Amino acid sequence: MEFSRERRLKARLAGDRRGDLYPHSLQFYLQPPTENISLAEFENFAIDRLKLLKLVENLGVSYVKGSEEYKSKLGHELRKLKFPYRVLAEDDYDARRKDHISHFILRLAYCQSEDLRRWFIQQEIDLFRYRFNELTDVLVQKFLKYVNLSYEALTARSLPAVQSDERLQPLLNHLSHSYIGPDYSIQKNTGKISLELIDALSVKSFPLCMRQLHKALRDNHHLRHGGRIQYGLFLKGIGLTLEQALQFWKSEFIKGKVDADKFDKGYAYSIRHSYGKEGKRTDYTPFSCMKIILSNPPSQGDYHGCPFRHSDPELLKQKLQSYKIPPTGITQILELVKGMHYQLACQKYFQLTHDVDDIGFSLNHPNQYFAESQKLLSGGREVKKETSEPESSQQKLSNQKSTNSSSILTSSNTDADIELEGLDAYFTED
Ligand code: SF4
Repeated sequence: MEFSRERRLKARLAGDRRGDLYPHSLQFYLQPPTENISLAEFENFAIDRLKLLKLVENLGVSYVKGSEEYKSKLGHELRKLKFPYRVLAEDDYDARRKDHISHFILRLAYCQSEDLRRWFIQQEIDLFRYRFNELTDVLVQKFLKYVNLSYEALTARSLPAVQSDERLQPLLNHLSHSYIGPDYSIQKNTGKISLELIDALSVKSFPLCMRQLHKALRDNHHLRHGGRIQYGLFLKGIGLTLEQALQFWKSEFIKGKVDADKFDKGYAYSIRHSYGKEGKRTDYTPFSCMKIILSNPPSQGDYHGCPFRHSDPELLKQKLQSYKIPPTGITQILELVKGMHYQLACQKYFQLTHDVDDIGFSLNHPNQYFAESQKLLSGGREVKKETSEPESSQQKLSNQKSTNSSSILTSSNTDADIELEGLDAYFTED
């Protein structure tokens, strides 16, 4: 596959040639594509396939694979995203081409670690099985006759060549950590939360990762580097203003070993930095689940990361028991964890803690969890400002500018998962 900054050279393929390229709607993806495509198309194809595979994962644990409901939902998504749906369409060259190219892009993105490879292969197998089962007998025979079952070694060997392409590597790295959804930047929510309510919110509306961080902070009056970044940006995303963040962290830290002077000199700068008020003035974005799950695993004494991914299962079980999750629910969660479906385990946790049968969204981001929880707890209404204190003029101003995070539907995290260069300085000391 070759890539160009220029607009993709239109493949001028006559009907026969197009038919030669993709004679079947189903493919074994034996040969990587060789045509030129634009970076925009590269990215769009990749995002759509990622959406598709995430749905495959979600359906695979929510429904019996191959059941009517499973097939109907998957078929609907294939049509919506314009991937080959069934073999009925004579000329679905564009859909087959998209299927072919997007598969290879995600192969590149997901061949970079064992965890990623296993996830990708599992979803592709399920997708392939569904599509294969949709073929008529005649087409099954035709397909089997056509395909070559000989095996070529894994895509990872192509990586050195791709990695030297400075345009592609950031995209590929990003894809494997990516999620599709809003970026939960602070402008959307500023001023909606009062500090007095954080304890209560951490119990009813925080995902487990943030609940764990909050508790550790309250217990120890301290969080180490990774926890401060992960939790600090989450709080920023749910709406803490810079002034509130400074007050929140300071009031907790000075209960421990850090005195007020040290906090002002050492930590305040870093907090302002994370709000884009210092250094490069980058307005840092809260971390998505994929980022938390796949990067910077916690070590001894750390509380960051995703408990479904990074906790010992026995410890996770104890934690869930202490949070009064019923035994059957704990078993279901641990099964999902065992199958490496960490976000689905978190969805199950949401379901159980909010007493709903169907959460109605696909979880990709801790701030999404919070926004959906608040929406649900407020009866589906616009999330109201939660406050137990008179509204300050600054908060009033912020509220006028803010919008409900749950109504943010359009922004992709393509540019949201910004470079964290400089944020390493965030709370520099352990
Ligand atoms: Fe947090 Fe996401 Fe893990 Fe849930 S799945 S605990 S929101 S990182």
